[in-house]
Amino acid sequence: MKILVVNCGSSSLKYQLFDMKDEKVVAKGQIERIGDDSLMKHETDSYQQAKVSVNVSDHMEAIQTVMDELTDPKRGVISSAAEIRAVGHRVVHGGEKVAGSVSITDEVLAILEECIELAPLHNPANITGIKACQKLMPDTPQVGVFDTAFHQTMHKKAYLYAIPYEYYEKYHVRRYGFHGTSHKFVAQRAARLLKKEDKHKIITCHLGNGSSVTAVRDGNSVDTSLGFGTLAGLPMGTRCGDLDPAVIPYLMDKEDLTIDQISNILYKKSGLLGLSGVSNDLRDIQAEKKAGNKRAEVAIEVFAYAVQKYIGTYAAAMGGVDAVVFTAGIGENAVEVRKMICKDLGFLGAFLDEEKNQLQGEEADISLEKSKVKLFVIPTNEELMIARETKEIGLGTQ
Ligand code: ADP
Repeated sequence: MKILVVNCGSSSLKYQLFDMKDEKVVAKGQIERIGDDSLMKHETDSYQQAKVSVNVSDHMEAIQTVMDELTDPKRGVISSAAEIRAVGHRVVHGGEKVAGSVSITDEVLAILEECIELAPLHNPANITGIKACQKLMPDTPQVGVFDTAFHQTMHKKAYLYAIPYEYYEKYHVRRYGFHGTSHKFVAQRAARLLKKEDKHKIITCHLGNGSSVTAVRDGNSVDTSLGFGTLAGLPMGTRCGDLDPAVIPYLMDKEDLTIDQISNILYKKSGLLGLSGVSNDLRDIQAEKKAGNKRAEVAIEVFAYAVQKYIGTYAAAMGGVDAVVFTAGIGENAVEVRKMICKDLGFLGAFLDEEKNQLQGEEADISLEKSKVKLFVIPTNEELMIARETKEIGLGTQ
């Protein structure tokens, strides 16, 4: 049974075709710069195409190009589009009306339109991708898997901001949280490793270019560090993370900034990049630190300290913790950062095994035998999670 997973950005389309018999990826690739000198990359087990120019003016043509490639008589992996049993779409924002993955209907599309206000950069592209697939494969079930949905289980006390309540009622200003597909995927895996699939307290640290920490109790998100938008919580590659809101009007006044200019600073010039002055990429910052750059050193310290504080906070929120999970680019690979984060967690009963911590990019239990709290590295796989949910929702099979 084949399931196609599609992730549409404003000018890009990433895709993976899964064979759900063994959850194997049979083809994957991406088209970037849709509408302007587009480039496509495509690979299967037996065929690897470097980036080539393709003539693609919109998302509809992009999906058609992907289908042509997948069904190509020589190097294709399926004989026709009919072999694709369902299409799973990554969707960023479902607001308060979407609390799980859903079959795409006209009502769901209307909700996505409503949520454009909340995710102006992402939802329009997601909608375009869905509509293109509906047109090209009208008889194939389409499923939306949302970044925000997993966090809809949060209690009001976790998602409300202490500003006048009318802004929640009028404008839906509240914590939503993101990276839900990743947090859910690694939390499910950790629960299985713990052999506590029903009852558990797990803290998942998705540390990549965008980063967030989530508290997961018994399979449900109870709190998460990203908020209304994608600026809150941990400092990220270029985003500021938690910040006293008083800083914003103060800086706007001092530097005579417009809303667009301050937004640009907080979204694109802050985080690891802003602190280090080097790069948004942790590897570059680590190299600079090694060369003696003090700002690079402190940028890494600020990041690790923020993760450490969230682990403490969420352990308190859940009244304990069974496991802490590290995932995404930094979480899976940055040995030094994991060590810094875990350094003072002994009070929780969490002790890092420094030797096991040397492993990179693979699933591992990196805690010492005596550690009451397990420390896991679990590579995330958002596409596989989307494929699984699509199979379950679109075809009614688990
Ligand atoms: P995105 O949020 O864009 O998907 P990723 O999950 O790929 O990001 O994470 C990117 C981050 O992971 C970058 O800061 C990168 O430096 C970091 N990273 C990737 N590999 C390593 C590594 N081996 N050591 C340290 N950091 C790494």
